[in-house]
Amino acid sequence: MNGRAELDVATIRKDFPILEREIRGKPLVYLDSAASAQKPRAVLEAIQNFYANAYANIHRGVYQLSAEATALYESGRDRVQGFIGAADRREIIFVRNATEAINLVARTFGETQLEAGDEILITALEHHANIVPWQMLGERRGTKLKVLPVDDRGEINLDAYAALLGQRTKLVALTHVSNAIGTILPLKKMIALAKAQGIPVLVDGAQAVPHTRVNVEDLGCDFYAFSGHKLFGPSGIGVLYGRLPMLQAMPPFLGGGDMIETVSFEKTTYAEPPNRFEAGTPDIAGVVGLEAAIGYVEKVGIDAIEAWEQSLLEKATAALAKIDGLRIIGQAREKAAVLSFVLEGIHAHDVGTALDQAGVAVRVGHHCAQPLMVRFGVPATVRASFSLYNTPAEIDVLVAALRETRELFG
Ligand code: PLP
Repeated sequence: MNGRAELDVATIRKDFPILEREIRGKPLVYLDSAASAQKPRAVLEAIQNFYANAYANIHRGVYQLSAEATALYESGRDRVQGFIGAADRREIIFVRNATEAINLVARTFGETQLEAGDEILITALEHHANIVPWQMLGERRGTKLKVLPVDDRGEINLDAYAALLGQRTKLVALTHVSNAIGTILPLKKMIALAKAQGIPVLVDGAQAVPHTRVNVEDLGCDFYAFSGHKLFGPSGIGVLYGRLPMLQAMPPFLGGGDMIETVSFEKTTYAEPPNRFEAGTPDIAGVVGLEAAIGYVEKVGIDAIEAWEQSLLEKATAALAKIDGLRIIGQAREKAAVLSFVLEGIHAHDVGTALDQAGVAVRVGHHCAQPLMVRFGVPATVRASFSLYNTPAEIDVLVAALRETRELFG
């Protein structure tokens, strides 16, 4: 894989100060980037520099500092637009995270355009962030949730999907990549099938944006949600992409400053997108940090990152398959660098705690995908997820620690 040559992992690791840390006297092996990614120095410095040299509130200031801060914030919007291939900068709305982005759509588009009996189609792979907002909408509006199942590999069937798209389907909401088992959905085909029937599509891209090239125009979706913190940016900043005509037809989400045109006690008129959806003082430093994070990813190269992570996934899958009693959950042919597994007879939490003793940070539990755990008949899994800063040597540490755990509980 040519990405192996293109990505100089030793140099990359030097960009991430936290990777110098020791945990319990051992070098940190951070295998939890699907939960949140670590931050490169470029991001830390951009935030520090912003607060030290250019900080002020944005948009309404007449003085230079406010103009500078506004320019930085709006330049972050341009950067996101370019990064995900949106046609118009007004299509980029800053929110707190992917969760808020999806809730925004449920509260605005959902509240005004969906009616009792309308169906929202999701998959069995979804994170709770792309399940619960639709159920809450259902409680308020009487909409129904339809769920596309997955097979034993964790893949969907396109014919079954097409069969579920019906007269009553008024929204399709799909994860791009499963956080719990790594399945990459055949998104372009799924979106095309929905759009052929005029059904809007929302994509939860929280697990896709840090690992693969995303182009919303090419995908053809109407909404795309992601979080900055999984993309090496700060926590507290996220993005909702929305196709402009959709956004223009949507009412505001939160009310307050910055989202209005005029206010009187009798009547308030609302600003155009994106401001309509950005009430109050936003996370200005978060946007500055996110822009730096995107700059970092673009410098390394998203294709090189993807190739590197795939090589780690291949190695880890082969090595873990050799461990007695280890069952990998999710074997989709198109898969991101997420390895979910159970060790027979040992609770996932015990495995996670034992790995922590070896300095290995993995996530254990239901990964905010409880229905998917039920589908695979497990209460929880251990999840190792890989990023651009992980190395083959770290996989060896994981495997050795798992073997030790096996013996300890054996
Ligand atoms: N969707 C997916 C697929 C995720 O993996 C996550 C986080 O793990 C989310 C949504 C929610 O992200 P956040 O907690 O940043 O809102």
